[in-house]
Amino acid sequence: EYKEIATPSRTKEILKKHGFSFKKSLGQNFLTEPNILRKIVETAGIDTQTNVVEVGPGIGALTEQLAKNAAQVLAFEIDDRLIPVLEDTMSPYRNVTVIHNDVLKADLVGTTKVVFKEELPIKVVANLPYYITTPIMMHFLESDLEVQEMIVMMQKEVADRISAKPGTKAYGSLSIAVQYFMEASIAFIVPKTVFIPQPNVDSAIIKLTKRDKPAVEVTNEKEFFKLTKASFQLRRKTLWNNLIHFYGKDDGTKAWLTNSLTEAEIDPSRRGETLSLVEFGRLSNTLEKNR
Ligand code: SAM
Repeated sequence: EYKEIATPSRTKEILKKHGFSFKKSLGQNFLTEPNILRKIVETAGIDTQTNVVEVGPGIGALTEQLAKNAAQVLAFEIDDRLIPVLEDTMSPYRNVTVIHNDVLKADLVGTTKVVFKEELPIKVVANLPYYITTPIMMHFLESDLEVQEMIVMMQKEVADRISAKPGTKAYGSLSIAVQYFMEASIAFIVPKTVFIPQPNVDSAIIKLTKRDKPAVEVTNEKEFFKLTKASFQLRRKTLWNNLIHFYGKDDGTKAWLTNSLTEAEIDPSRRGETLSLVEFGRLSNTLEKNR
């Protein structure tokens, strides 16, 4: 009888066979609950017309479920000790390619072009290493890889920040950076008890769907993201204080800011976290026009 990799007994068997010991510094918390993996694959809507990119396959618990459903799976794993393990555990699956590389250093467009035989919609599905959740998210968003959806597990706290709405404590420049490109929602919460070793915090599966076009039309994307970052620098301060702190306090800059805020109909005494994406977009475009 075949036992899935994610069952606690099979996981322990694999770890023992290969003499594997966890590296905390690489965010290694392996999922040992097949039902949750199936739920992830279901949430992601993976079928034979989908190619999947996975980050950090570990011993292949999630990779196996993806392989059973997807056209092809491409997985990036940084830990050289896991490469022979994956060769072993993935041997029944002919549609899996494991690349031994730091995903942050990987050429996503180039690698997918070489590995994927068919040009199908690409989804990113992963149980992310938590110490670099945000850099990995940004690496995918800033790359030219066409990703239709991302269904990724991360610390619940970061998932809350990514999916946060204006006016809430969790809302910040990360919410904007992601929501500008993708529609974000939390699919479900995963308790820390289903991992070995157990992490300190609960996790969440977040679902990000690529928008047809960005959430707001901006004339200068780079300046828009600079503005949103600047607006959250000093959390407890007003938008005005954050803006002069970032752009400068000289008379010319102050006049430029005041005029643009008035024209964009945004009260400078508001806090950055109350501004919607549309309002940030309007302010950014007005600032650019008046520069
Ligand atoms: N997918 C497996 C699971 O769900 O059980 C393992 C998930 S574990 C949370 C994170 C995995 O990411 C580990 O296998 C770790 O070695 C790998 N990893 C850590 N940093 C990485 C990086 N920069 N690039 C690629 N993989 C990385």
